[in-house]
Amino acid sequence: MNGPVRVRMAPSPTGDVHIGSARTALVNYLMARQSGGAFILRVEDTDAERSDPATEAGIYEGLGWLGLQWDEGPDTGGPYGPYRSSERHEFHSQAIRELLEQDAAYYDYTTAEERAAERTEQQQSGKPPRYSGIGRHFTAAQIAERKAAGVVPAVRFKTEPQDLIFDDGVFGRISINAREIEDFVIARGDGSALYNLAVVVDDHAMAITHVVRGNDHVANTPRQLLLYRALQWDPPAFTHLPLVVNQKRQKLSKRDGAQSLGEFRRLGYLPEAVVNFLIFLGWATGDEREIFSLDELTHEFNIGRVNRADAVFDLQRLDHFNGVWIRGLDLDTLAERALPYAASGGLQISDERRDYFRDALALEQERIAHLNEVAGLMKFFFDDDLDPDVSQMKFGKHDAVAISAALERVVELVRDVPDFAAEVLETRMRALADELEWKTGDLFMPVRVAVTGRRATPPLFVTMAVLGRERCLTRLTRARSNLADLAAA
Ligand code: GLU
Repeated sequence: MNGPVRVRMAPSPTGDVHIGSARTALVNYLMARQSGGAFILRVEDTDAERSDPATEAGIYEGLGWLGLQWDEGPDTGGPYGPYRSSERHEFHSQAIRELLEQDAAYYDYTTAEERAAERTEQQQSGKPPRYSGIGRHFTAAQIAERKAAGVVPAVRFKTEPQDLIFDDGVFGRISINAREIEDFVIARGDGSALYNLAVVVDDHAMAITHVVRGNDHVANTPRQLLLYRALQWDPPAFTHLPLVVNQKRQKLSKRDGAQSLGEFRRLGYLPEAVVNFLIFLGWATGDEREIFSLDELTHEFNIGRVNRADAVFDLQRLDHFNGVWIRGLDLDTLAERALPYAASGGLQISDERRDYFRDALALEQERIAHLNEVAGLMKFFFDDDLDPDVSQMKFGKHDAVAISAALERVVELVRDVPDFAAEVLETRMRALADELEWKTGDLFMPVRVAVTGRRATPPLFVTMAVLGRERCLTRLTRARSNLADLAAA
């Protein structure tokens, strides 16, 4: 192929980008970046009513979130526009006219009833339903009669038997005879183009060199090759990516969990983890490495290593990648990414509390599996009215009165310790436990419950240091008063 590589993603605007489309976009993006070519985004709204700005925005948002910036598209423009199929009516109509003029297509005046009758008959005799091409052979008189009766014709491509062979970038040589393909519709009664026609016309007009898409489209490729042939255009190279299936090797369904970029984002997956996950749907490095940034993939990805086998969708693998990426982020970046989740989860984080948020987040970084957990994990840091549930303290060896007395000593310690730092707190608290002749755990657990309201938290002394002296004092005091209430009850 001479000239620069031009690849495209042609999503139908359904709103949120499904993982299959996202994987296609990623592979196309990488192919463009690897070759210094162009990645084109064409919104394929041939079947949609008209393009809906909201659903289109979902595509931009999803791809933008992953970092797959396109070079040409409806929003960015470019030399081959317009980039919305619905705005390319003229290009499509011209090709349809050409095909009609060459007698490579025809107006089909069969009625819906006739086609239905044909299908029923085929079904009854156990044949696959397939349009036999009856409309090709109507006489002028029959057509006039049908026109008069108000039949609105679709335009069908005249499929003639011929070998169709192409070398798929993943699946190798694919060869079928057009005998197996019915005369397919290329334009509806209202003149609007159908997918196969529109995609060929648009790919050709946009000088697309490589069509890389999901294997669910492989059956369309021979139809598209027929159109390229009839229009005397050179077809692009075709590559089909393996299907994405669930663990039972079935088509993905809602039951298999989150599958769109919007859902992944809401659930707190990092785009880096999603990219990392998507590229392994059907691809393997051939070695042990598995963590790759988008940038690294530009060098590492090799379409030649894409498998033919269906790719199994495994959310646990995505979770694994997410954990690795979260732990690998520097704290400032993590804080920036986590902030919107914390806010939407109800934490009030004013500008003055940003540093506090970051310091607290540092204690949770190891434990966060998804960013949407941060509000829950960090709530106790931000709850100004925290009212510790003292019944969570263990009252085995020491009763509420004894614990309250011990906490009074902790209050003094917290108030008087000159440097409110984790190590100092730890030394002093251990000394206090010794002095009281308590096991450290018997002292630390009530303190933990008092200052955090929970039994499970990050390590106690760093947590106290981040909470700060004032908050710890307030909470310890409140815990003592709650203990008094408990003892009195
Ligand atoms: N609109 C089609 C889809 O979303 C595009 C198919 C193609 O890439 O040709 O699946």
